[in-house]
Amino acid sequence: MRKNLNKKAITKARETKQQAVTAELSEISQKREQELREMDRIAKMLVRRDLELAEIREKREAELKELEESRTALMNMLEDVEEARGKAEEEKEKTLTVITNFTDGLLVFDEENKLSLINPQAEVFFEVKSRDIIGRPILELSTFPTIEPLVRLVGGEIKGVFRKELPITEKLTLEVSTVPMMREEEKLGTLIILHDITREKIIERMKTEFVSLVAHQLRTPLSAIKWTLRMLLDRDLGPITEEQKDFVEKTYSSNERMITLINDLLDVTRIEEGRFLYKQILTDIGTLCQFVINSYKDEVKRKKLKLEFKKPEKKLPPVMLDVEKMRLAINNLVDNAIRYTPPGGRVTVSLSYDKKEIEFSVKDTGVGIPKDQQERVFTKFFRGANVMRMATEGTGLGLFITKNIIEAHGGKIWFESEENMGTTFYFTIPIKEKFGEFLREF
Ligand code: ADP
Repeated sequence: MRKNLNKKAITKARETKQQAVTAELSEISQKREQELREMDRIAKMLVRRDLELAEIREKREAELKELEESRTALMNMLEDVEEARGKAEEEKEKTLTVITNFTDGLLVFDEENKLSLINPQAEVFFEVKSRDIIGRPILELSTFPTIEPLVRLVGGEIKGVFRKELPITEKLTLEVSTVPMMREEEKLGTLIILHDITREKIIERMKTEFVSLVAHQLRTPLSAIKWTLRMLLDRDLGPITEEQKDFVEKTYSSNERMITLINDLLDVTRIEEGRFLYKQILTDIGTLCQFVINSYKDEVKRKKLKLEFKKPEKKLPPVMLDVEKMRLAINNLVDNAIRYTPPGGRVTVSLSYDKKEIEFSVKDTGVGIPKDQQERVFTKFFRGANVMRMATEGTGLGLFITKNIIEAHGGKIWFESEENMGTTFYFTIPIKEKFGEFLREF
């Protein structure tokens, strides 16, 4: 019995143990399963990470490549910039060498009219040292006696382009040109170029003096010849035949031409030496024109021209004129119109005015001035190729003298012309509001 009991107990215990083992095994297998799942998850995660990492690596590599390319491009650019800078330096050096060795004087003023550069030649002209004047505003430079004339000429505000003569001392005359330095619309400063024209001025003066001397010397015998011929023609020296009279008349008119040339030359030398003085009085320019026109009556009739004088109905305001010189100017213009208009043509002299000025014009239907020669019309000794072919007489000095006369009266002169169609010369004379205003100027 006892043995049985023991057996049962043992079986029971074995069963219990087996159950425990089974439970334990089941637990272990569950755990393993869980672990396996976990590992699977981790493995998947790792695969994903790996993919992501590969992607990132790829991106990074692409970025690196791009970076490398940018770096190369940048390096190239830097090289280019360096090269360009080198070239610019070289150009600057070259420009500076040119400026330094330039035979003309050069001054550069910045946009505030302060001196930013002066080359050695300008230092020589003005007897100054660059370090004493650089950076100073132009007006301050007038404290240097040699630069003062230049400051007076260009003023505190250096304007536009101009070219003027500037006597500095007895032995030095400069031609001053101002050139604005522009970048697109912006003004960066002004360049002043000083060209030494002392030698040209001396030669010009000597030439003028020579012409003046010769003209004076010639005038006296020409006058003597004129009066002798006149006496012959008037038969004061006894009777002459018609044939002799013909010859003497021809000689007389040739002599007259020589006298005109000499007088023109003397006027030109006086203008050039600044001795062409003006004595101005209040004058009616209409009467003056009428006087000139009347003196051409015979010539107009001879050439069968129509000469018309148009002036406003209202009386013209009187203007300050040097009557003699203005008569000469008007005479030159009317004379040209008549001379260079073939027979049967028309010449119209007109006067008009507004508040500020009187305008004179003389229009003709003559030979005109060739387009390619129009620029030279007011220069000394100019004669158009077409009028030379016509064998007309003339000195080529009339318009030079006329221009000087008009400008000395504060006026302007210009013309319009077309070959074989005609020419119109115009000039204006300012009307001074008050007599005082005029006196201030002369
Ligand atoms: P001149 O008449 O003595 O030759 P000017 O100085 O008066 O000298 O004129 C210069 C030149 O200009 C003339 O020779 C002529 O060629 C030209 N000219 C002037 N006025 C006229 C005009 N009205 N018609 C055509 N040509 C003209």
